[in-house]
Amino acid sequence: MPDYRVRISAKLPMTADILLVRVEAIEPATFEVVPGAWMQWRIPGPENTILRRCFSIACDAQVPGMLEFIIRKTPAGLGTKWLFEQAQVGDELVLAGPNGKFRLQDSGRGAVLIGGGSGLSALRSILQEMRDKQVAKPSTTLFFGAVNKSQLYLQEELNEFTKTIPGFRFVPALSAPQPDDNWTGETGLITEVLDRHLAAMSDAAELEAYLCGSPGMLDACQTVLAKHGIPADRIYFDKFISPKQ
Ligand SMILES: Cc1cc2nc3c(=O)[nH]c(=O)nc-3n(C[C@H](O)[C@H](O)[C@H](O)COP(=O)(O)OP(=O)(O)OC[C@H]3O[C@@H](n4cnc5c(N)ncnc54)[C@H](O)[C@@H]3O)c2cc1C
Repeated sequence: MPDYRVRISAKLPMTADILLVRVEAIEPATFEVVPGAWMQWRIPGPENTILRRCFSIACDAQVPGMLEFIIRKTPAGLGTKWLFEQAQVGDELVLAGPNGKFRLQDSGRGAVLIGGGSGLSALRSILQEMRDKQVAKPSTTLFFGAVNKSQLYLQEELNEFTKTIPGFRFVPALSAPQPDDNWTGETGLITEVLDRHLAAMSDAAELEAYLCGSPGMLDACQTVLAKHGIPADRIYFDKFISPKQ
């Protein structure tokens, strides 16, 4: 697993607690990575320690020397505290990878992609890959769950996929929209919205699913997918567990 020396080239706020972080490769000068993979970041910790933290690649890796990541600030988390509060554009870090087995499947099946919060990261990477390769699936639906409108981000880009990925639908869902959100879209927990949509699809049992986010969200979604006849071996996931130092 190679180590990449990288430089932070952008820190873009997406929501109050989510950043899009862009890095440029220094040495080697190009990344050998694939969409869906994750990288282990070496982050400066307290008392000259090095924290090892996993973040999923959030782009298609088409630009050889650039990667993007979508990172949520973990409450009381040391590594993300450094990234949010201390890291500066121009800082150098080491990233190791690619790691993991989360990949777009060459199956010809329709797909549902489900995420929330920074769980958009690996899903965005898969969607950009579908766009680049013009992957022809019978249907592709992205379900993105948030509490209210302030937690939605990259909406323009996600809507744009309806024009660039054949058969793509984007379903954002809010569990507690605020009155001034003027929300006219889906409401409810992402599992409830997923359940309703799968019930309305005649081919639900034939689909494959891509999940990205916290273990709790993934487990809840897997229960709904199983209810609609999608077997476990057609459910692919990028699980955000929190490895300790
Ligand atoms: C494969 C993979 C991919 C991932 N991809 C992403 C991604 O794309 N975007 C993203 O936002 N996240 C992602 N994650 C999750 C991310 O790696 C974790 O949230 C990470 O731990 C955050 O680092 P941190 O140093 O800020 O928090 P940590 O310091 O790891 O702390 C995490 C939590 O554990 C608690 N904690 C820490 N140490 C202890 C201890 N000793 N005892 C008890 N509790 C403790 C903290 O208080 C905090 O609540 C991914 C995880 C995995 C495994």
